[in-house]
Order: sequence, then structure tokens, then C-alpha cells
Amino acid sequence: MAAGTTRGSSGRRIGVFGGTFDPPHIGHLVTAVRVAEALDLDLVLMVVANVPWQKVGLRRITPADVRMDMVRAAVEGVDVLEACDLEIERGGETYTVDTLAALRAAGPDDDLVLVLGSDAAAGLDTWDRPEELRGLCRLAVVERPGSPVVVPDGFRWDAVRVPMLEVSSTEIRERVAEGRSIRFLLPEGAVSLVEQHRLYR
Ligand code: ATP
Ligand code: MG
Repeated sequence: MAAGTTRGSSGRRIGVFGGTFDPPHIGHLVTAVRVAEALDLDLVLMVVANVPWQKVGLRRITPADVRMDMVRAAVEGVDVLEACDLEIERGGETYTVDTLAALRAAGPDDDLVLVLGSDAAAGLDTWDRPEELRGLCRLAVVERPGSPVVVPDGFRWDAVRVPMLEVSSTEIRERVAEGRSIRFLLPEGAVSLVEQHRLYR
């Protein structure tokens, strides 16, 4: 077990890694597996946002079911990672605090670890009901190039070192729009879905 982690008596240790995943990429995947390893997690749920309300209106967002299929393809064969459609099933605008509350109710003895890149962590107090969120989970924060690790007051958190990858979904969408290659920035199965659905053109 990693230093600094304490395992509860009966529950599992579950990572909750939310995102728009439009599309998922190696930055997400390396983060998820390394956080699982560093914090001795039993699994990491890759939770696909249904309606990412902070992004709506700023750009076209791929339908949730297609983003879900890309995440399923991306984690296929990786035991510790699981694609999670909880937020899509719930429908409506996506509030992470609702997802954590649902996971807490489903597994009262589980330890929940919310996984975040440093850009997301810095904005946590703009999320819905941050004070409730603080009580539901610890955070695992990984540094993302260009975003120093800063966490709003009141959260319990661990910094986890992962290889820094200067990759974003934005860059991948732009590359597709420009007709450039996106190979190796995301798993082959997800690349195939981008092509099949003619996304980001
Ligand atoms: P976009 O460019 O569309 O915002 P993104 O690449 O930032 O996409 P998101 O779906 O917005 O991906 O991010 C989901 C989570 O993954 C956030 O916590 C974000 O900080 C984290 N994340 C995204 N890319 C990386 C990366 N390269 N390294 C570490 N964490 C990342
Ligand atoms: Mg982002």
C-alpha cells in the first residue's frame, strides 16, 4: 500500500475521474492508472459527463452516448479502469457532487477519491455545492502542464506525480479539424470511433 493511505475496514477504494472526454486521451489514461497505483485504489471510474454545464454554449459537444463509447473503447482490457455511465443515466446537467452522493449511498463503506487535473482542481469552488463535495471525498490532484497545483481551502487532498503530458481534447479536436494525425494521442479504438462518427470535422 502506498505511504500515507489508510484502508478502511470493509469498503473499497474507488477513484472517480469525471470528464467530458471529448475525446478521451492518453493524458486521462496515464493519470487514471498512475493514481490507482499511487493511492492503492481498487478501481477508477471514468465518469462521462452528461451535460458539462460549464462548457455548454462555448463549443459543440459530442453526444454523450458517443463519448461513452469512446471511453469504453479506451479502457477496454484495463482491469483497474471502468467506464461509468451514471451521469448519463441520471440525465440533465451534470453535477459531480450528485455523482459522489450516489456512490456514497451505494457503498457507505467505500473510500471515494475524486481525481482531477490541476486546471480542474483550481476551479473547484466554481462547481455546484463545493461545501457538500468537500465532505464526500478526498481529492487526488495531478499537475497538468501550464497549471500549477492549487486547491481551494477546505478540501482533503493528495498530490500524485504522473508523467506530464501536454495533450488535451481541445488539441485533438483541432488536429482533426485541420486534417492532421491524432494517432497515439488516444487508443486506437477511440481513434476508430472519431473516424466512424466523423467527429470534429
Ligand atoms: P478540453 O480540452 O475539451 O477541456 P481536456 O483534455 O481538458 O478537454 P476534460 O474532459 O476537460 O479533458 O478533463 C477531464 C479531467 O481530466 C480534468 O480533471 C482534467 O484536468 C484532466 N485532464 C485532462 N487532460 C489531462 C492531462 N493531459 N493530464 C492530466 N490530467 C488531464
Ligand atoms: Mg478540460
